[in-house]
Amino acid sequence: MTDVSSRPGDPHEASRPRPKKQEQESASAEVVEVAPGILRMQLPIWMPGLGHVNMYGLMDDDGLAVVDPGLPGPSSWKSLKSRLTTAGYKVRDVHTVIVTHSHPDHFGAAGRLAKEAGAQLIAHKAFTTWSLQRKGATLSEAEAERLEQQAIEEAARYRGPSLDELPSLDDDDHAALDEITSETQRLSVPWGGTTPWGGSKHPDPPLSRKMMMRAMRLLFSPPDPTRRVRHGSPLRLAGREWTAIHTPGHTLDHLCLYDQEHGILLSGDHVLPTITPHVAGSGQGDALSSYLATLDLVGALPDVQLGLPAHGHPFDDVPGRVTAIKDHHFERMEKLREASLAIGTADVVELSHQVFPERHWGVMAESETFAHLEHLRRSGDAERWEEHGVLYYRAQPA
Ligand SMILES: [Zn+2]
Ligand SMILES: [Zn+2]
Repeated sequence: MTDVSSRPGDPHEASRPRPKKQEQESASAEVVEVAPGILRMQLPIWMPGLGHVNMYGLMDDDGLAVVDPGLPGPSSWKSLKSRLTTAGYKVRDVHTVIVTHSHPDHFGAAGRLAKEAGAQLIAHKAFTTWSLQRKGATLSEAEAERLEQQAIEEAARYRGPSLDELPSLDDDDHAALDEITSETQRLSVPWGGTTPWGGSKHPDPPLSRKMMMRAMRLLFSPPDPTRRVRHGSPLRLAGREWTAIHTPGHTLDHLCLYDQEHGILLSGDHVLPTITPHVAGSGQGDALSSYLATLDLVGALPDVQLGLPAHGHPFDDVPGRVTAIKDHHFERMEKLREASLAIGTADVVELSHQVFPERHWGVMAESETFAHLEHLRRSGDAERWEEHGVLYYRAQPA
């Protein structure tokens, strides 16, 4: 859901027509076998900045496993069924639904599909959705806050494992992370609430997002995974042996699937071909550190020949794309540092205006700026303090 095309600001940019990025292309009805036994099926999405989500179908003798079955609601469902028909399948042929992360364009139809197909539903252990959290019937506010804080701290401590560690990840360093339960994750965009960087309540979301949230409430009940996997969990699908790669950053619960034998990475929103996935700062954690570390992790996976992203076309240079995304963040960080040095003490909103073009101003730009500022602060490159509930930052001269 939350992908921002985040290029450095250019005052003239708004007046210039911008070429469409491949992630913004509208959903094609075509079903393409992008690798033996793997189908790319595009579903329409109605979210700002994105035109489609890729639902991948992994074919085997038992039927079909699908990855990220799109948004809730009748129009996406209709497209989903029509894509399956084109591919020669019926809903009941789906035996497995895999959700890469807790954004609605990825999990929205997962519950309905799993139910109607009688399929298992797989997600990461930390998978949750805002709806589950909003219901909050069993959790007190304080308890939810405590769990959330714990999750954020765990995420901040998370460092991408080196490859030699991969087989033992389940038990060692990440046991704590795996304790995170479905109640802990917050909405990555804190509409209508107090933002972690302070100030009064954030203004309501823009109309399209408001509509989206209302529609979400009306349209679906959040999926309940039947199997929760962790980093390193094996999955046998489409006659291939996949390994679940936990890649927190874009969201805490993000999963990629890696088929080492054939060099395929289902990269979800972790690595996209031309846009930079959104990284949301929230609470006290350092989401950017987790993101950069897990980018390194997937960039170093041996023998990856093909990246299959959740938005946009298949791409072959996963390590190259990882480097480009990292460079983008380092540039953004440097720009932020320079802006901060130039204007002096400032809050997150003001700093976000320095580094994002005006058309991106708003809570998402702020939360990403917050993630960068927290990363700078934790690296000793910025100072932070609080006044009347608002966080202020000042970069340190190099
Ligand atoms: Zn997405
Ligand atoms: Zn996403």
